[in-house]
Amino acid sequence: MRDVSLWGALLGVEKTVIERIEFDEDADVVVAHVRATSRQRSRCGVCGRRCAGYDRGAGRRTWRALDLGTVRSVLEADAPRVTCREHGVVVAAVPWARHDAGHTYAFDETVAWLATQSSKSTVTQLMRIAWRTVGSIITRVWADVDAQHDRLAGLRRIGIDEISYKRGFKFLMVVLDHDTRRLVWAAPGRTSATVREFFNLLGEERCAQITHVSADGADFIDTIVAQTCPNAVRVADPFHVVKWATDALDEVRRGAWNDARALARKEPRRGRGRPRSDALPRPGSERAKALKGARYSLWKNPANLTDNQQVKLAWIAATDPELYRAYLLKEGLRVIFALPYTAAVEALNRWISWARRCRIPAFVKLQKSIVKHKPRILAAIEHGLSNGLIESTNTKIRLITRLAFGFRSPEALIALALLSLGGHRPVLPGRK
Ligand SMILES: [Zn+2]
Repeated sequence: MRDVSLWGALLGVEKTVIERIEFDEDADVVVAHVRATSRQRSRCGVCGRRCAGYDRGAGRRTWRALDLGTVRSVLEADAPRVTCREHGVVVAAVPWARHDAGHTYAFDETVAWLATQSSKSTVTQLMRIAWRTVGSIITRVWADVDAQHDRLAGLRRIGIDEISYKRGFKFLMVVLDHDTRRLVWAAPGRTSATVREFFNLLGEERCAQITHVSADGADFIDTIVAQTCPNAVRVADPFHVVKWATDALDEVRRGAWNDARALARKEPRRGRGRPRSDALPRPGSERAKALKGARYSLWKNPANLTDNQQVKLAWIAATDPELYRAYLLKEGLRVIFALPYTAAVEALNRWISWARRCRIPAFVKLQKSIVKHKPRILAAIEHGLSNGLIESTNTKIRLITRLAFGFRSPEALIALALLSLGGHRPVLPGRK
C-alpha cells in the first residue's frame, strides 16, 4: 500500500494501518480496509485497557468517514470482542471511532461543529445523515467533552432558569454562570428534585462558595438554595420580573380584545370582497383586529419600535386609556433595572404605590408579587446581576430547542445546548 500517510490524513485516522483502498463504482463509495496498529489492538471498547481476546465478534464492520471530495467513504475492519476485567465481553476499541459509534471521530467532530453553526438541513444534507443521527453524534461528542472538563469548577454567581420545549409541554432546568456567561448545567424537568440534582452534583464544599443565585422567583428554588448554599444572596432575575409585567400587560390586552370581539359579534356580517360604500361601520371588529396586531407594539422596548408599531401605540393611547396605562406600568418597571441602586430603590417604591392604585387587576396582583420579591429585586440591581445574561441565554436555548425538535431524547437537546453555550465549542478536525 503506497501513500499510507496520505490516505491516513485524507481519512482523518491515526494509529491505524491502512491495508488497501478500493473504489466501489456502483455504490460510489471508497472503502478503506484498515486495522488498528498493534499497540491499539485488544483493548476494551469502554475503558481502553488491554484485555485478552474473546472471539471474532460479528465479523467485518464499516464506519462512515468524511467524504473524499464528492465521494462517500467508509472504513472497513474486523470488530473482534475482548474480555475486560471490569466490563466483561465487549467489542474491542478502535482508534478511529468512539465505542459503539458507526462514524469516525473526524465525522463526529464535523457533525458537532456543523450542528452548533448551521441549520438542520445544512447538517443533514451535507453529511448525508438523518437528524436523529445528528442527535446521537452530538450526545457522544458532548459526553467526551464533559469528561475532559469540570464545568462546575469555580462557580460563584449562578442563575437558575427553566425553559420549555416540545411546544411548551416539557421543561429543562438550566444553570448559568453569571461571571463566565456560560451555560453550565441542564436537565429535563422543572421540579425541586431537578434543582436538587444540580446542587447534589455541585457538592457541599462548592455550594458553600456560591455567593449569588438568581432565579425566577419560584418558592421551591428559594427553599433549596437557602438549605444548600448558606452564603448565597438570593436575587430575583430582572428578566423574569419584566416578563411578569409583560404577562400582566398581555392579560389586559386580551381583556380589551375580548370586549371588542363581543361587540363585533353584534355587528352585521359582511360578505366577501370590498365593502360597499354605504356599508355600516363595524367598530368592534376593527378594534379587535387592531388589538390583535398591537401585541408586539406593547411588548417591545420603545426604542426598538418600528414606525408602524409607534402608530399603533399612539392609537392605543388615544382610544384605550386603561391598556395604555398598563403599558406605561410595564415600561416603568422595566426601566428601573437600568437605574443606579439608590435611584432604583426610590423608583421601585414609586412604582409600587402607582401600581397599587391603578385599578387594573392584573397589575394590582403583579404589585403584590413585586412587594414580596422587593429585597431580591433590589439585590439584583445592587449586585449588578441585571446584565441580561439570563435573557439572552434563554433566547438562545429557545432557538436550540426549536432546532432540536425531532431528536429522540432530551439528552441530545442538552448536548447541543451545552456544546453551543457551555464554553467548549466543537472544533473542526485538523484545525486548532
Ligand atoms: Zn473495560
